[in-house]
Amino acid sequence: RGEKLYLGMDFGTSGARFALINKEGKICAEGKREYPLYMNEETVDWIKSWRTTLFDLLDDIPIILRPAVASISIDGTSATTIIVNSKTGDPLCEPFLYNQSCLEALPIVKAIAPPYHTVCSGSSTLCKLVSWWSSSDDTSSVSAVLLHQADWLLWLLHGKLGVSDYNNALKVGYDPEVECYPPWLLSQPYSSVLPIVQAPGTMIGSMKEDIRTRFGFPKDCVVCTGTTDSVAAFLAARANEPGKAVTSLGSTLAIKLLSTRRVEDARFGVYSHRLDDKWLVGGASNTGGAVLRQVFTDDQLKKLSEQINSEKASPLDYYPLISVGERFPVADPKMEPRLYPRPESDVDYLHGILESIARIETKGYNLLKELGSTPVDEVFTAGGGSKNEKWVRIRERVLGLPISKAVQTEAAYGAALLALKGASP
Ligand code: ADP
Repeated sequence: RGEKLYLGMDFGTSGARFALINKEGKICAEGKREYPLYMNEETVDWIKSWRTTLFDLLDDIPIILRPAVASISIDGTSATTIIVNSKTGDPLCEPFLYNQSCLEALPIVKAIAPPYHTVCSGSSTLCKLVSWWSSSDDTSSVSAVLLHQADWLLWLLHGKLGVSDYNNALKVGYDPEVECYPPWLLSQPYSSVLPIVQAPGTMIGSMKEDIRTRFGFPKDCVVCTGTTDSVAAFLAARANEPGKAVTSLGSTLAIKLLSTRRVEDARFGVYSHRLDDKWLVGGASNTGGAVLRQVFTDDQLKKLSEQINSEKASPLDYYPLISVGERFPVADPKMEPRLYPRPESDVDYLHGILESIARIETKGYNLLKELGSTPVDEVFTAGGGSKNEKWVRIRERVLGLPISKAVQTEAAYGAALLALKGASP
């Protein structure tokens, strides 16, 4: 009795999770579910799968904690798009998945958008919208609304159609700086389909009565706008000040830096998400842990790493990639992987690879600064590579800044922080 709790849900690429936190950010319950596979004739029925997963996760929340849940927020995969009837909410087509490419729509989008805009990619939400619009008849177009995965899941809980957040809406063309859709988009016939947009973590309304009573959530339980899964993962690390960054070192290397200035450069795939009065600047390299797995087993990685002298700079200069091409911090689609010469000692070889990836990380932060972002002053790190303490030490030496393991890295935790924000404006 008394303490309020905040629920975050993450709908990622491989499954969904929830995190229930108190106002100090302590986790009171968490859980995960894989997406069940439902078929719709030949194709996967994602609508049914996501809906089932949402309610299964709500069922997984301990019953005694449910009356304390003050608010809910959800993140979803970026550019996963659902177009529904604006009166009933019934889907008007199969959902478009985050990585689905609508190349046939790209020339149409490029003809209306400014050069190098984030919508100018075959998998952007706008290409998906244009693709759907071109193939649908007028009657259904008139009464349609576009939702992102997170918007749609939240709608199941609050029942107000047509609400999104400015992180999800970035790839449909929304301008978070001026807080509206640009004129080149509003002048299109399908602009009537675009959702209204709020800041992530904004209260949308009360939870629907039937859902509230079915699960035992309190009368004043509210539903708040969400974000994308990668922004939610950044929020989880609570790197809340400009200059704080999160390096995610999984199969690939991704850096995200909180900045007072918005930075964009299409050549390097660099763009910014708005976070209230700040900007989350990001870049992603093709280097990362996947290369390590090609050379060593995880067990070898552990044992060899222990023998590395992390205080000593490795003279080996590699560019570890698993295939040709790099985008950030060097834009070169023809760049060849460079992992030679291989020294006799495996310890030296691994040291060279780890040190080379650390140099690429540093180069990434330097590039963001050159492009105009707030300079990095502290790095939190996440992903499989962050477990390697020797590597963290090498990276600190190369970068010349403190690096520590992020305490929380789950996107569901970041979504719970948005729920907390929305419940206590
Ligand atoms: P994903 O991007 O696939 O989600 P993870 O965050 O799970 O990746 O991290 C997996 C990566 O972590 C693998 O590519 C692997 O090479 C790397 N990794 C695992 N153990 C270690 C280790 N001890 N040192 C360095 N890297 C490691």
